[in-house]
Amino acid sequence: MANLYMISFGEIALKGENRPFFERILIQRIKNALSGFENVCVRKSHGRIYCYVDGPKEEVIGRLRKVFGIVAISPAHSCALDMDSIKTAALSAIKEMDYNGKTFKVETRRPNKSFPMKSPEVSREVGAHILRNLKGITVDVHHPDIEVDVEIREKGFVYCERISGPGGLPLGCNGKAVLLLSGGIDSPVAGYMIMKRGVEIEPVYFHSFPFTSDRAKEKVIDLCRVLAGYSGRMRLHVVNFTDVLKELATKGTDELLTILMRRMMVRISQEIAGKVGAKAMVTGESIGQVASQTMEALTATNEVAKIPVFRPLIGFDKVEIMDLAKKIGTYDISIEPYADCCTVFVPEHPRTRPELEEVRAAEEKFDIEGLVRKGLEDIEVVEVV
Ligand code: ATP
Ligand code: MG
Repeated sequence: MANLYMISFGEIALKGENRPFFERILIQRIKNALSGFENVCVRKSHGRIYCYVDGPKEEVIGRLRKVFGIVAISPAHSCALDMDSIKTAALSAIKEMDYNGKTFKVETRRPNKSFPMKSPEVSREVGAHILRNLKGITVDVHHPDIEVDVEIREKGFVYCERISGPGGLPLGCNGKAVLLLSGGIDSPVAGYMIMKRGVEIEPVYFHSFPFTSDRAKEKVIDLCRVLAGYSGRMRLHVVNFTDVLKELATKGTDELLTILMRRMMVRISQEIAGKVGAKAMVTGESIGQVASQTMEALTATNEVAKIPVFRPLIGFDKVEIMDLAKKIGTYDISIEPYADCCTVFVPEHPRTRPELEEVRAAEEKFDIEGLVRKGLEDIEVVEVV
């Protein structure tokens, strides 16, 4: 019989009338995450999701830990609703733990009131059974190393572990956004943060070959692959940005170049957003981090946006962002040394406090709409799984 994992989900339980909608998406996401394993069966009952699947425990848990909306995962044993079966299941469950020299307690919940014994009695009997059958383990009801949880429902369920999931909301329950994804540390983390709120993302990368090497593009694809671990798949839009960038770099825009470049990225990205049904843009900007991210520079970038720009890292320190990048698995890829166009074309003295008037005036030299069209003409879509 397939192994059982009990899944708890926190926040979506609070969503009132929308709850069935969130639960349905979460169940679908769990099924997707477990595709490839045998005998997958996922169903819900009373605020829990019961997930049956065959396969190596570590791998199954590894996949479930990347499903947004999951708060905790408990490998569990189910059994018939009688004391002998519950005791046997509890003993099997604790034997799977590294119990020698440890303390434990049994905690019982009994939502099914038709079961004749009360919770404390069940806990006592199960505890005694464990003590009779295992050596090297003692009881500590206040601070046990291992908590054996018994749940009396339509069946009995026993588990000893609560492995934390990523939390958040199931992916897709809050629509879709495009992510401006560079090869840096920040934008992949921004993508993770917004995905965690249930927003699907389609990354857009502005590639400027030969100023940025094809290895830089590979790096972005590698980052997408890590993000796809949380979503199943990712559709990356690689915009050939070279001509736009060359044009911007010609006409004495030096100090404002980074800002002009950003404004073009925003314009092109929002056209892509419109095409793919995305309702917002996401960037990895954090206030004050670099010259192009002062309040004034962000205001200048933002001015050309017609849809909301979400900046989930706006109040984060670099160190906090780096820690998150390590946690989600993007850091090692991000620190690979392939420069992106922003580092190649960065002006020697970038303007940190550009005036909007000045930026608008600088753009008058260009056929902005033509440049947007040029960017949109040459896009490669890479499917990443
Ligand atoms: P990151 O680490 O995300 O690259 P950063 O600190 O290097 O961020 P910038 O290079 O100034 O900051 O970029 C700010 C944001 O602009 C990025 O987080 C990203 O969302 C977007 N961006 C920059 N360059 C590109 C690019 N080549 N393609 C797509 N988006 C980009
Ligand atoms: Mg960057």
